[in-house]
Amino acid sequence: MKIKINKEFYKNTSFKLGALSLIILLSLLTSSFMFNSQIDKLKKRIDYIYFGNYIPVLKLHTLEESYKDLIKCMRTYKRCDRDPFFEEIKKEWTYYDNAYKDIEERKIVEKISVDVKNSLNYKTKISQYKNVIKEIDFLKEHEKTVAYKKRQAFLEEYTSMKDYLFYNMIILLFVSFVFISLIIYSIIKKDNQLKILTKKYKLDSITDSMTQLYNRKYFDKIFDNMPFISNANKWKSAFIMLDIDFFKQYNDTYGHDMGDTTLKLVASSLKNYFNREYEYVFRLGGEEFGVILFDIDEDILKDCLADVNKNIESLNIEHKNSKISEVVTISIGAVIYEANSYVSCNKLYKVADECLYKSKQNGRNQFTIYKEGE
Ligand code: GH3
Ligand code: MG
Ligand code: MG
Repeated sequence: MKIKINKEFYKNTSFKLGALSLIILLSLLTSSFMFNSQIDKLKKRIDYIYFGNYIPVLKLHTLEESYKDLIKCMRTYKRCDRDPFFEEIKKEWTYYDNAYKDIEERKIVEKISVDVKNSLNYKTKISQYKNVIKEIDFLKEHEKTVAYKKRQAFLEEYTSMKDYLFYNMIILLFVSFVFISLIIYSIIKKDNQLKILTKKYKLDSITDSMTQLYNRKYFDKIFDNMPFISNANKWKSAFIMLDIDFFKQYNDTYGHDMGDTTLKLVASSLKNYFNREYEYVFRLGGEEFGVILFDIDEDILKDCLADVNKNIESLNIEHKNSKISEVVTISIGAVIYEANSYVSCNKLYKVADECLYKSKQNGRNQFTIYKEGE
C-alpha cells in the first residue's frame, strides 16, 4: 500500500513539474518572440527615419549646391560647360526620386521633378534655376517637417512598446508565480496526506483492532529489544503480564459480546494508566495483556500494580460467577530486568508467566513481582 501511494505521488509530481517546465519554456519562447518582433519593428523605424529622411535631405542639399555651382559657373563663364552639372543633378535627383515616398509626398515631388528635368538644358535661364532651388528648399523643409513628425511618432511608439514589453513581462512573471505556488501547494498537501497515511498505516499494523492497544506483533518487537534498550540506557525495566480472572465464566454468563465490551473497558483502563513515555501496553492474546515499562523505580512499580488491581475492580463490571469477587478482577505477574544482567527474553517471559500463575494460585486479583537474582 505504501509503495503504491509513493508511486502515485511521484507520478503526479513529475507530471506537474513537466507541465511547469513546458509552461516556462513556452513563456520564454513567447516573450523572446515578442521581444524579437518588437525589436524588429524598432529597427525598421530607425532605418526609415535614417534612410527615409536623413538621406533625402542630404541629397536635396547636394542638388541645391550643384544648382548654385551651375549658376556661379554661368555667371563666371559665358560659355559655361553645364554638362557635368546636369549629370550630377540628374544622378542626385534620380536617387532622391527613387527613394520611398508616400502618396502625398509623391504628388509634390512629381511636380518638382518636371521642373528639374526641364531645367537640364542649355536654354534654361539663371532665374529658372533659382526657382528650382526654391522648390528644392521647399522640399528640404517638407522633408524636415516629415522627419520631425516621424521622430515624434517613433518616440511615442517606442514608449508604448517599452510599456507593452514591461506589462507583458509582469503578466508572465505573475502567471509563472501563481502556477509555481499552486504546484508547491499541491506537493505540500500531497506530502502531508502521505505522511498521515503512512503514520496511520504504521499505527494500524501495530494496533489491535478491538482494544486499540499495541498488538502481539509489536510486543514481540519491543520485548525482544527490551534488554538491549535497558542496557544501552542503564535503565531498570519491567515486563508485566495481566490476565482477567474467570473470563471463561464471564463469557458463559453474559455472552461473548459483553465479554468483548469488558475486554475493551479493561484495555482502556490499562492504557489510561500507563500513558507516559516509555510505557507500552499490549494485548498479548485473548484476555491476556502485557505491559513493558522502561526506566522504572521498584517501589513505585509495586504501588502501580496495586493501583491496577484497584482500578480494574473499581470499573465495577458485574461478574456474579467469579469465585473471588462480585466484579471483574485481574491477576498480575511482573518481572524486573536490571541493566546488563543479560537475562534472555525467553527467561523473562517464563518468569512473568510463573508470577502470574502464582497470583492466580494465591487467590487472583493480586500481583506478584519477581526480581532477577533474588
Ligand atoms: P483464569 O482466571 O484462570 O484466567 O480463568 P479464565 O476463565 O479467564 O481462563 P481461560 O484461559 O480458561 O479462559 C479465557 C477465556 O477468554 C476463554 C475465551 O472464551 C475468552 N476469550 C478469549 N479471547 C476473547 C475475546 O476476544 N472475546 C471474548 N469475549 N472472550 C475471549
Ligand atoms: Mg483469564
Ligand atoms: Mg488467559
